[in-house]
Amino acid sequence: MSKKANLSHQTFLPLIGFRTWEIFDGHLGSLQSDVRWPYDGILEANCSRLLKGKHLKNQAPSEDCSCGLYAFHRLKKAQELAQFYSLDNFHDLFVPWTHILCGVTIGWGKIMVCKYGFRSEYQRIIAFVPPIRPTKHLEQQLASIQKNYEFPFLSSKQIDIYAREFGTSYDLPIFSRFF
Ligand SMILES: [Zn+2]
Repeated sequence: MSKKANLSHQTFLPLIGFRTWEIFDGHLGSLQSDVRWPYDGILEANCSRLLKGKHLKNQAPSEDCSCGLYAFHRLKKAQELAQFYSLDNFHDLFVPWTHILCGVTIGWGKIMVCKYGFRSEYQRIIAFVPPIRPTKHLEQQLASIQKNYEFPFLSSKQIDIYAREFGTSYDLPIFSRFF
């Protein structure tokens, strides 16, 4: 078996994933880094490790590093994370990411799959999921996101059908034997 086959899973179709973002100033930002997602929804991962003072290129996601663009296999996991970051006690601590949005992406390029999700070299937003418990302030923030990003807001039932037009998923029964 080649070394490459040991490092990553190869899929013929992009992988469907579910993410959470922080909303700020009409932009979407990653929760675990200060990366802003561009309005066209397409992002390429970069490894922030340095080799002789230079950033390693074309390495993300790497097996011995935490780099890459993250997504869950299931919407429920993304919603649980959104709920965690939206808890009232976080407001009291002045944590900035109190406005969270869930959505659907497709990942492609180099992909590393684990039980609950994957890390990919590239991801693109395809849709957003309306928040379970919207507040007035959050709805104002969502209006700016809708204007800037132009991806549809779909219910969880609609997303299941919509996303299959773009890729495949490790949540499908055919893949369950891997876990
Ligand atoms: Zn890395």
